[in-house]
Amino acid sequence: MTEHGESVDVAIIGAGPVGMTLALALAGGPHRVRLIDARPRGAWSSDPRALALAHGSRQVLEGLQAWNRNAATAISTIHVSQRAGFGRTLIDASDYGLPALGYVMRYRDLAAALDARLGDSLLLDNCSVLRVDSDDIHTGLTLRRADETWRITAKLVVHAEGTPGNDDDVRVYDYRQHALVAEVRPAAAHDHRAWERFTADGPIALLPLDSDFSLVFTVPPEKAGELLELDEQAFLARLHECFAGRLEFTACRTRASFPLALRIRRQITAGRQVWIGNAAQTLHPVSGQGFNLGLRDAWELAETLLGTASDDAGDATALAAYGRRRVIDRNGSAAFTDGIVRVFSNDLAPLRFARGLGLLALELLPPLRHFVARRMIWGARAWP
Ligand SMILES: Cc1cc2nc3c(=O)[nH]c(=O)nc-3n(C[C@H](O)[C@H](O)[C@H](O)COP(=O)(O)OP(=O)(O)OC[C@H]3O[C@@H](n4cnc5c(N)ncnc54)[C@H](O)[C@@H]3O)c2cc1C
Repeated sequence: MTEHGESVDVAIIGAGPVGMTLALALAGGPHRVRLIDARPRGAWSSDPRALALAHGSRQVLEGLQAWNRNAATAISTIHVSQRAGFGRTLIDASDYGLPALGYVMRYRDLAAALDARLGDSLLLDNCSVLRVDSDDIHTGLTLRRADETWRITAKLVVHAEGTPGNDDDVRVYDYRQHALVAEVRPAAAHDHRAWERFTADGPIALLPLDSDFSLVFTVPPEKAGELLELDEQAFLARLHECFAGRLEFTACRTRASFPLALRIRRQITAGRQVWIGNAAQTLHPVSGQGFNLGLRDAWELAETLLGTASDDAGDATALAAYGRRRVIDRNGSAAFTDGIVRVFSNDLAPLRFARGLGLLALELLPPLRHFVARRMIWGARAWP
């Protein structure tokens, strides 16, 4: 067994898109950074998800030179409707003087663009965290990597390891829904339009991706199993039915499903530790906020660390200020997303009627539509 010792300013646990964003945002600054991941480098290449990225996220990724424009498909309109009910609304990028409301990119293309900027010396992959010991002066990590033991002392440990397990500090609400994801080919060109359709089982999103759609089909867990088993034609017929026959599909690939729950950490800072991205809050994908919010966590943490006069990356005053800066964005995004899921995932007739009125109001009242659209485009900057 070989032993390695290392002392850094910031150790980031989790080299997903949020952890990598933080590592890149800190690069070139005064802090020595170490990025640690449990999986081998590039394990993200098999991830089946596609993500809707807000216009504001594109700007951050461009600033980090990690925006792969060839992998991004623009969303120019979003059509929102409900199954078996009236009311629909259309949100159009041209109303906001923007080239796009947002972009769709495969998780793996996003991760590859970030990874390509990391270089070779920052990441310790294939590494499991055995212990975290924190005191007033530093946080110590004990890691196992094949037959090596690593002892890293860091002034600050950032948790970016994704969805947390059950922990006293994590509030959990299980939606008892799964998101079935796939890439489906439309019979007619999508024209950069995204579709969000609310059904009694849960929301369905179709996001333009290359010349296909990325599908997120939310259903109860037992239906997810059934949909995964259906042959291609039967699956496409089911989808066609959900859109009341308005959209035709010719092919489907890479079906996979994810269980959905809201998991939100009450405190995102404790001593010399901070939680960001999904490790801080894991949201339902209905509003496409999860990564966009995590990106803002990473960006604001980097700004805090680079902007403080102290050379201690774990400076308590700076971390407390960071925690305060994230309150509105985190709570606002979680409440917005959770509210949409609860109001739209049921089949009670009065609620169906109220949803129809809501969609009609969005269509008829431009200020209300702008309120929703601005949150999709800008996230935090749009909160009052
Ligand atoms: C179906 C679906 C659709 C979605 N659609 C959207 C969307 O349209 N827009 C959007 O913004 N968001 C969307 N999201 C949410 C988005 O995927 C997440 O918010 C985002 O992936 C969070 O990134 P992260 O880096 O925090 O965590 P992750 O992507 O989970 O990465 C965590 C990393 O930590 C590593 N890790 C895990 N445990 C350890 C450990 N113990 N030690 C070391 N490393 C560890 C993992 O290997 C991984 O590399 C969607 C999610 C789902 C499930």
